[in-house]
Formats: sequence, structure tokens, C-alpha cells
Amino acid sequence: MRRDTPDGSRVRRLIRPPGAIVEARFLEACTRCGECADACPEVSIFKAGAEHGAALEMTPLLDLEERACYLCADVPCASACPSGALRPIEASEIKLGTAVLFPELCLNTLDRACTICVDVCPRPQVAIALPQDADGDPLRDASGALPIPRIDASNCTGCGLCVVHCGSYPKALAVTPEA
Ligand code: SF4
Ligand code: SF4
Ligand code: SF4
Repeated sequence: MRRDTPDGSRVRRLIRPPGAIVEARFLEACTRCGECADACPEVSIFKAGAEHGAALEMTPLLDLEERACYLCADVPCASACPSGALRPIEASEIKLGTAVLFPELCLNTLDRACTICVDVCPRPQVAIALPQDADGDPLRDASGALPIPRIDASNCTGCGLCVVHCGSYPKALAVTPEA
């Protein structure tokens, strides 16, 4: 559920589906029925297993290193929840967390000219952006290398598309959940 990051911090990967109420109340409200997972057309929601602990077992989770949330227009996962653990929301309200980028892992640090995360983001050059010069071209360093992308937390939905597609190994991106 957590992985080490280059700076020694830990990133928590437990992310609830869109519309989730605060975790303590979520655990009381969720009946573990699986309706949200069944309603997800992208198979992005999985049910926690025994390895997640008895309190979490069978509750719905997203693993945004494996499967992103596609920000469905009608948010069917949240609408399907019969218990109120997920409240119905608009797609524009989805905020699963915030992407964080570890520059030392980014391929651009190795002069590999990667723009994948910006290209796949539903809000390119808004939620995640390559710094640009006055002409709108990527702001390359003295050696000509592409810059490290920058994330605007206020515009990032935490969808995880950048994480799933990041070409670096280990991945240079992760999503941290909303507090
Ligand atoms: S918004 Fe769509 S892709 Fe995201 S978890 Fe809900 S149903 Fe799945
Ligand atoms: S998590 Fe989604 S919205 Fe945020 S930067 Fe990555 S692709 Fe863009
Ligand atoms: S996809 Fe990954 S390696 Fe490529 S620019 Fe983005 S963070 Fe760097």
C-alpha cells in the first residue's frame, strides 16, 4: 500500500473511488457490496483483499500505478453506491489526490526527452506542464535536455493517467490521496 520514494518519504497508495466520504465514516457506511466496482467501465476499482487487513477487506480501492480513473462523465461508480459511502458527484468534482513527481527518476534527467505524462494528462499544460519559453517551446537546459514537468496541485485531479503511462522505472510519478 506504500512505496519508498527517492527522498526517503513514503507515498500512500490507498485511494478510494470518486465521491468517497471521509475514511472513518466510509468504513462504517460501506457495506462491501461491490456495486461501485461492478459499475466501473474501466475496471479501475478493485476490492481490498485479506492482505489489506480485516477492516478494509472487500472495500473498494484504486491502485493508480496500475489502473487510472478515466473521470467518466456520469461518474457511474459513485452513482451506483447504495449506502452513501460514495456520494453522487459531477465529473468536474473528482479529486482523488495529487500527483507528485520525483525529478531524479524522470527520464528527462537522463536526457531521454520524454513528454508522456503531459501528453496523456486530461489537463495538459494545466495540471502538469513542461515549462516553456516565451515562444511556447519547452524550456531546455544548456545541454538541450527537456525540462522536468511541473504539477499544479490545484488543477490535478489525481486521476493517475500520468502515473500509469510514465515510462521511467521506478515510476517518476505517484498520486498521494486527499488529506
Ligand atoms: S469515474 Fe469512471 S473510471 Fe473513475 S472509478 Fe468511477 S467508474 Fe471507474
Ligand atoms: S494525476 Fe491526472 S490530472 Fe494530475 S497531472 Fe497526472 S494525468 Fe494530470
Ligand atoms: S512520463 Fe515520467 S519520465 Fe516522462 S517526463 Fe513524465 S515524469 Fe518524466
